[in-house]
Amino acid sequence: MELELSTGNSGTNFIKHIIEEDLKAGKNRGQVATRFPPEPNGYLHIGHAKSICLNFGLAQEYQGTCNLRFDDTNPVKEDVEYVESIQEDIQWLGFHWHELYYAADYFEKIYESAVQLIEQGQAFVCDLTPQQMREYRGTLTELGRNSPFRNRTVQENLDLFQRMRAGEFEDGSRVLRAKIDMASPNLNMRDPVLYRIRRAHHHRTLNQWCIYPMYDFAHPLSDMIERITHSICTLEFEDHRPFYDWVLQALKTPCHPQQIEFSRLNLNFTVMSKRKLLDLVQGKHVRGWDDPRMPTLQGLRRRGVSPAAIRDFCERVGVTKKESCIEMSMLETCIREDLDRTVPRAMCVLNPLKVVIENYPDGKVEELEVPNHPSQPALGTRKVPFSRVIYIEKEDFMENPPPKYFRLSPGKEVRLRSAYFIQCVGLTHDPKTGEVTELRCTYDPQTRGGANPPDGRKVKGALHWVSEAHSAIAEVRLYDRLFQVEFPGAGGTDYLSQINSHSLIVLKNSRIEPSLMAALPESRYQFERQGYYCVDRFDSHSGQLVFNRTVTLRDSWAKEKGSS
Ligand code: ATP
Ligand code: MG
Repeated sequence: MELELSTGNSGTNFIKHIIEEDLKAGKNRGQVATRFPPEPNGYLHIGHAKSICLNFGLAQEYQGTCNLRFDDTNPVKEDVEYVESIQEDIQWLGFHWHELYYAADYFEKIYESAVQLIEQGQAFVCDLTPQQMREYRGTLTELGRNSPFRNRTVQENLDLFQRMRAGEFEDGSRVLRAKIDMASPNLNMRDPVLYRIRRAHHHRTLNQWCIYPMYDFAHPLSDMIERITHSICTLEFEDHRPFYDWVLQALKTPCHPQQIEFSRLNLNFTVMSKRKLLDLVQGKHVRGWDDPRMPTLQGLRRRGVSPAAIRDFCERVGVTKKESCIEMSMLETCIREDLDRTVPRAMCVLNPLKVVIENYPDGKVEELEVPNHPSQPALGTRKVPFSRVIYIEKEDFMENPPPKYFRLSPGKEVRLRSAYFIQCVGLTHDPKTGEVTELRCTYDPQTRGGANPPDGRKVKGALHWVSEAHSAIAEVRLYDRLFQVEFPGAGGTDYLSQINSHSLIVLKNSRIEPSLMAALPESRYQFERQGYYCVDRFDSHSGQLVFNRTVTLRDSWAKEKGSS
């Protein structure tokens, strides 16, 4: 899919405009009733969040209602696991449905509607094979032909349909079709199928039915039964709208919901269809539906993204009829802005390098009082212990630095955040690998709290650190984009071959400051100078925390790994 990249279209919403016109005209007795209708055949992704925010958001804005309806008319791919996760995700996003329904609960009413269409001479049982059906259907440039079974009598159709339900015929041997127009320019109007025979176990109706209504038939009826006023769906259903309206008109239903289409959310560097997401899970390319690299709500949640950030993103993306692809960096911006405002700061050294401060007394410990947020005093302060042996980031030391390197190197001085200036006076190498294993430094007691010394000496680098004796080891998982290309699968390429093999880096020896040791699952922090991190909700145990990197501090993807 080669789509124009977009940075969103916040504020405007043509659907609100339609609703306001309807309210002015006194339509639907001044009611607004929407629904979110997922098929329980996978986990919700961020595209669904757009639809959820839209449907629930409209109901909130116009004091209306929004139902959650499981569109479970296709028994084969559906499962209670999905039914449960979908409910959890919607609530997590911060929305509450008015009523919870299942399309399967309408099977009897939908069946009765089909019988009514037969009685009105507007539906017939057809015995063409699927192959023949395709041939008779015609194409965009070629008219369709009437099925030879189209002129069956009402009596014969009623009898056959009743026997389809009773299980007298084999799967796929017959279907019920609407009798509309085989010459219609809209292929969806060429006598579309209403019911098929399918002996499949349904997660809700079990083995009660062996015939199932098609989505296009069940959907307008479900909307009508629930007295939905505005039935909002994505653009690919635009061509189905004539049939949606045909069903309701033919049945002379007491109300007629209005179908309105909007464009899907697409994001670059990921895939969004449930089928592809399922492939990623089943092929073990990711650790599950809730892998933090997945665009699923469970994945985003596990990664540390807050519901508020997702709602903000959906708002900024806006609602239009224009197909576009939103940049992942826009989602990341929403996440950063939300976390920057709301989460406490803490220090974690991802790849520790030991530093011994030679002139700092052995056994002495200072509890430094450090604010948890630079501009939100309400987030309080914490005590960070300082002692003779600390760790800094390996990346923050270079033995032979290039000019303008402001971090630590032999002879150079830097500031330890909230602590002291230190100067590197010596180092130890691993005799085999030549790698630097330990630094020796001195500190300046006049720089406590990171203050400038009385002689006005200044340093540019400010490093994060932890005290060896007071820190704990934690696992840190660094995530990057799941795909290395912007449009996975574009032009018929194999999206599975475009997975970014560096999308997960696991660090087993990171060191966290003591205030993080009691962090609860799902709590979020800014690790100073590193990014935003969240305690993994499933793999963390007390004393053995696992942190997921939600997002880096800056958009480093395009520019590639800048330094601070
Ligand atoms: P997928 O193609 O990912 O399987 P779907 O449309 O089949 O998605 P449904 O369970 O039928 O998934 O979707 C429930 C609702 O969410 C529908 O109203 C659908 O239009 C909407 N929706 C699904 N994907 C997106 C998306 N990417 N952007 C906006 N709305 C979406
Ligand atoms: Mg669908």
